[in-house]
Amino acid sequence: MTELLPACLRLLLLLLLATVVCDVVHALLHAAQHTQVRVFRALASLHQEHHEFLDRALRFHDSRLARNLVRHQLPELGMRVAVVVIIGWLGSVDAVVVAAGVLLCVLDLAFVVALRGRDLFHRAQRAVPAPSSGIFVDGSYHSLHHAFPDHFLAAHIQILDRVLGRLLPLRDRSVVVVGASAYATDLARACSAAHARVTQIDVEQLSEALLEQADVVVLGTGAGSRGPSSYETLLLRAQRAHRRRLLPLEVWTVGTNAAWAARQHLLVDDRTVLRTLKRGSVLGATTTLALLRRGLRSV
Ligand SMILES: [Zn+2]
Ligand SMILES: [Zn+2]
Repeated sequence: MTELLPACLRLLLLLLLATVVCDVVHALLHAAQHTQVRVFRALASLHQEHHEFLDRALRFHDSRLARNLVRHQLPELGMRVAVVVIIGWLGSVDAVVVAAGVLLCVLDLAFVVALRGRDLFHRAQRAVPAPSSGIFVDGSYHSLHHAFPDHFLAAHIQILDRVLGRLLPLRDRSVVVVGASAYATDLARACSAAHARVTQIDVEQLSEALLEQADVVVLGTGAGSRGPSSYETLLLRAQRAHRRRLLPLEVWTVGTNAAWAARQHLLVDDRTVLRTLKRGSVLGATTTLALLRRGLRSV
């Protein structure tokens, strides 16, 4: 067992490095879609086949199953095997450990093929739960990659997305900012600059219709403890209005108090990403958004 342990650890490290390198290739393939260089666009189109198989509305297209296998999954296997072998060679890793890494890549593909492309990360869903707040990728996280192909790029561990700030898609999304403080206004402006559709209103104007179409709700009026304008009431209203939407809801709360801090985790449901901006006004709106883009849920 003690002899096996170092080999297992070396294999784990090899696979960890390989998955980060493969994430970089994945990001480059998405970036290559927008280039003028034909050969890069051709490479990008291979990966695009995977996104055609499971589209941005998270609908499967079984007629594209074979194309997904031939044009995306097999080239991806070739790339993953090459990355494992090259890292193994550069790191002077023993051949048996490299062979085990290659075998795991092949078995992973065999598993996906056996499930006809519907593995743990690719499932038909009517309501995607909020992704986990940890560093590892889960099924919801990868569903969000299909919904927002330039974001949530990591396959297993979120290192690249946290470095690049790809955890908060805002372009063309609806952001409702409740409150008129200077910080709320700065946040609204920063979201507009990120090409979100922003509505800034007073709490009395907040309607269910507005909440129903909101992707992000920013509560900037002060937590309160009870009553129609308390964060508790507004969070519950936002979650109720969002229940028929496909993707998770984002709720950001500005400021806090003891009652809200104690109760917020009891109130938030599994379809909501709740972010608390306690020191946001000190940091400023631009820094706040930069941190949220890197996955922070408490700022
Ligand atoms: Zn996928
Ligand atoms: Zn992709």
